Amino acid sequence: MALKTPQEYIDSLRNLKLKVYMFGELIENYVDHPIIRPSINAVAKSYRLALDERYRDLLTATSSLTGETISRFTHLHQSTDDLVRKVQMLRLMGQKTASCFQRCVGMDALNALDSVTFEMDRKLGTEYHRRFRRFVKHVQENDLVVDGAMTDPKGDRSLRPSQQADPDLYLRVVRVSSDGIVVRGAKVHQTGAVNSHEICVMPTTAMAEEDRDYAVAFAIPSNAPGIFYVYGRQSCDTRKLEGAEMDTGNAMYGGQEALVIFDDVFVPWERVFMCREYQFTGMLVERFAAYHRQSYGGCKVGVGDVLIGAAAAIAEYNGVARAAHIRDKLVEMVHLNETLYACGIACSSQGYPTASGTYLVDLLLANVCKLNVTRFPYEIARLAEDIAGGLMVTMPSEKDFRHPQIGPYLEKYLKGVATVPTEHRLRMLRLIENLTLGCGAVGYRTESLHGAGSPQAQRIMIARLADLEHKKKLARIIAGIEREEE
Ligand SMILES: Cc1cc2nc3c(=O)[nH]c(=O)nc-3n(C[C@H](O)[C@H](O)[C@H](O)COP(=O)(O)OP(=O)(O)OC[C@H]3O[C@@H](n4cnc5c(N)ncnc54)[C@H](O)[C@@H]3O)c2cc1C
Repeated sequence: MALKTPQEYIDSLRNLKLKVYMFGELIENYVDHPIIRPSINAVAKSYRLALDERYRDLLTATSSLTGETISRFTHLHQSTDDLVRKVQMLRLMGQKTASCFQRCVGMDALNALDSVTFEMDRKLGTEYHRRFRRFVKHVQENDLVVDGAMTDPKGDRSLRPSQQADPDLYLRVVRVSSDGIVVRGAKVHQTGAVNSHEICVMPTTAMAEEDRDYAVAFAIPSNAPGIFYVYGRQSCDTRKLEGAEMDTGNAMYGGQEALVIFDDVFVPWERVFMCREYQFTGMLVERFAAYHRQSYGGCKVGVGDVLIGAAAAIAEYNGVARAAHIRDKLVEMVHLNETLYACGIACSSQGYPTASGTYLVDLLLANVCKLNVTRFPYEIARLAEDIAGGLMVTMPSEKDFRHPQIGPYLEKYLKGVATVPTEHRLRMLRLIENLTLGCGAVGYRTESLHGAGSPQAQRIMIARLADLEHKKKLARIIAGIEREEE
């Protein structure tokens, strides 16, 4: 069985010896670093749940390539049922970690590349699909974490890749030889990059012929020579260094992003899945984005479940749980959250097989899903802050709470209802702070907005897929302007 234990996963990271920089220093032991470790715990949770009988159906699948039981995070979707289970798995992971657990980007990259390499080979006579499938087998058999690396730095957004003042602002091929290619550039905002065994690189946008050197897709071990990482900061991240776990709001789990730099990295042909076939970049970006926009109808909903739970709990701790407007606000939060889930399930159940056999989501519904995700978590967060009260941002530290002289005053004056320990109230407020303003807000708020593409990217797709001509025809028939064809 190709399933790693959480401990095997963590040990496997130690062996990678990645070059990770943070606060201007090369981090010797990044696996045990207090700022990084919660993000590793979040990924490790996917390994733990895969071995848990209760969650097996969601966290594992039967490989279409080997027939083995594998992590669903490495699976190529074989049915709409697989697509639905993916969303359910992501919701569960969000519930269990209350953070970005990082493993879905790679899963979405694998599924997108599978169908696109197949269709590219069929049209152009290339041999990318065979190589790609061999790579997927390697990922499945070793239960690997894959970073899905699409976003380039992009420099001046009004210019194409080849028009940039610095040609490296989009990752590109700088040399081609009989053995492979050499690439240079960077990928920004890379979720879970430092917790990944492999990096799966894709172009960031549809390329024109003059941008053909930028039309490149490949997979490379995360510790390949020439790759290094600069760790991204998150709001309130240094609280994890203070030795006061209560102040973090979520001491166990967290997300992670990094800037990944490719300083002339050699990629052997066996790992190259697109090299200058600019005609297929649009299809790859569109399909990856669709899978990833589907993902958010699961993961953000699971985190939303925790935030709604925290808001309901703090309402009880504050003694306002029975107030009509509080109950109504909680209902509103649930309504918004379940609407996102409904979109995730809808685009999955309306999925269809591509030519390679791998299932794709309904593109229009996936884009509607993500456009809602750019808004609803913000409203859910606003309502949670409303219910929480101001103490979530004015509360003293855990060290004050534990202090022999000051502590008893905090115990007395920060109490809510008499039956609930003050510490429980403070912990719940810190969790809400984490998810709305702290480290957790990176995944719950800003990632909801920009991850898988900023809102305008979804609007462009919705405009393209809306088929307004069909709708106009429907209207003309009902208005008596046109006859319905028999
Ligand atoms: C927390 C987080 C995690 C992420 N994880 C990953 C990951 O794992 N892998 C990955 O590949 N990417 C990841 N991303 C990147 C994400 O896909 C990008 O943030 C997103 O595509 C927007 O790109 P940008 O951040 O460069 O913003 P910009 O592209 O600069 O967008 C900012 C604004 O400018 C507008 N804009 C941009 N270009 C134009 C233009 N040409 N004309 C008009 N308007 C324009 C946008 O619509 C938007 O309103 C992540 C992002 C976040 C925030």
